[in-house]
Amino acid sequence: MEYRRLGRSGLQVSALSLGSWVTFGKQVNMRDAKTLLKTAYDAGVNFFDNAEGYEAGESEKIMGEAIASLGLPRDSFIVSSKVFWGGDQPTQRGLSAKHVRDACDAALGRLKVDYLDLFYCHRPDIDTPVAETVRAMHNLIQQGKVLYWGTSEWSAQQITEAHLAAREFGLTPPTMEQPQYNLLHRDKVEAEFLPLYENYGMGTTIWSPLASGLLTGKYAEGIPEGSRLALPGYEWLRELWETENGKQKLEVIKKLLPLSKKLGVSMPHLAIAWCLKNPNVSTVILGASRLSQLEDNLESLTAVPKLTDDVMQEIEAIVGNKPAA
Ligand code: NDP
Repeated sequence: MEYRRLGRSGLQVSALSLGSWVTFGKQVNMRDAKTLLKTAYDAGVNFFDNAEGYEAGESEKIMGEAIASLGLPRDSFIVSSKVFWGGDQPTQRGLSAKHVRDACDAALGRLKVDYLDLFYCHRPDIDTPVAETVRAMHNLIQQGKVLYWGTSEWSAQQITEAHLAAREFGLTPPTMEQPQYNLLHRDKVEAEFLPLYENYGMGTTIWSPLASGLLTGKYAEGIPEGSRLALPGYEWLRELWETENGKQKLEVIKKLLPLSKKLGVSMPHLAIAWCLKNPNVSTVILGASRLSQLEDNLESLTAVPKLTDDVMQEIEAIVGNKPAA
């Protein structure tokens, strides 16, 4: 396994990490979650990603129970939670000082740990002043409940405002952002965020490296039974891919298949290795609904050397979506 610094922080995070969105508590039960976590950990993965909103807290309960029963030493792994979607009551959502504190305490209980390594604001909250959220995160850090705080799917402008508030009031600024990043979704990570890496040493823990599995190529001829796009409750995701824009992206994926064959690199490996080529990516968060997928994806580091400059140019010519920096 390769380890990378989380931005300019001192935290060494495995280049591949494991998340539990959709899977734990929906497709994956406790026994299988334990096997996935152990397999990842034994391969050198040291970061496990979660959120209060994943299966209404069930995902964190499963992860916490599994980690406890595996007996992983607390100083050998990094675990995260995210605050935003906690419940239906007005005080159970968003980024108010109250919900940030309550969500952290609840996540600590579900994950069975006494501190969170990483705690994210899962989305921006336009109804809470950013300084209130920054102070709430700072307080959790002062209390020893959180080590590093960050954002997810915030704009560069919003992240900059958090830094300015932190500077003005002498508070802890965010360390990392969790954006979507894959061959089909590039603008923020490759263009909008460039000043943030430079000015603030921001790290990125990127999500959906396979675009929810689409980049494996398995949706080329339709929606396979049991796959994410066929899951009840995720119709909204399937609908995204049924739009004109989604269909065009599927066509791009089909055009990558011959290149993957020519290189002798599977599509999942190609897509994940492509994310790893970006030095501003601190870690690629993998998702897996079954063990065989995880075992396969963990091998994708071996594909990185095969993505030479020439191959990267071939990929660029196919996807045709390089953002203007
Ligand atoms: P991916 O884009 O890699 O999708 C993972 C899914 O693709 C798997 O669950 C599986 O779905 C399918 N898959 C994975 N590997 C293979 C394979 N080798 N062959 C065939 N199918 C495969 O990542 P996710 O979208 O799951 O995101 C990863 C993590 O990122 C999440 O768990 C979460 O922690 C985080 N995340 C954060 C978000 C945020 O807003 N901050 C949003 C979304 C995710 P299936 O078998 O069901 O088809």
